[in-house]
Amino acid sequence: MADILADGCALSGSSFWGESMTFCIGCGQRLAQGTRFCRFCGSQQPDEQVLMLLRNEAQQIQMRAQTGQQQQINDQNLAQMEQMRREAEFAQQQRMQYQQDGQQPRW
Ligand SMILES: [Zn+2]
Repeated sequence: MADILADGCALSGSSFWGESMTFCIGCGQRLAQGTRFCRFCGSQQPDEQVLMLLRNEAQQIQMRAQTGQQQQINDQNLAQMEQMRREAEFAQQQRMQYQQDGQQPRW
């Protein structure tokens, strides 16, 4: 019991939320920065280049939004997301059909 309490106090130290931590894109668990695969769920983490691209994109969207085109961009984003969602659904349906029609998986 005393050990657990002592650990809890140690975790409340300032280094607990250091900048060297990141979060899994799959399950949201804390991971050390630079981790390629989550040790909790196995999701591959985006590397720094991808993150930087995403950040740049977000910045550009923000800058455009500030010039008064926010509504238009929101509409575009919604349309893009809807299209991506349809494509993902379509791909999933194809995969399921393929699994049903095709060979049984070998265990
Ligand atoms: Zn994970």
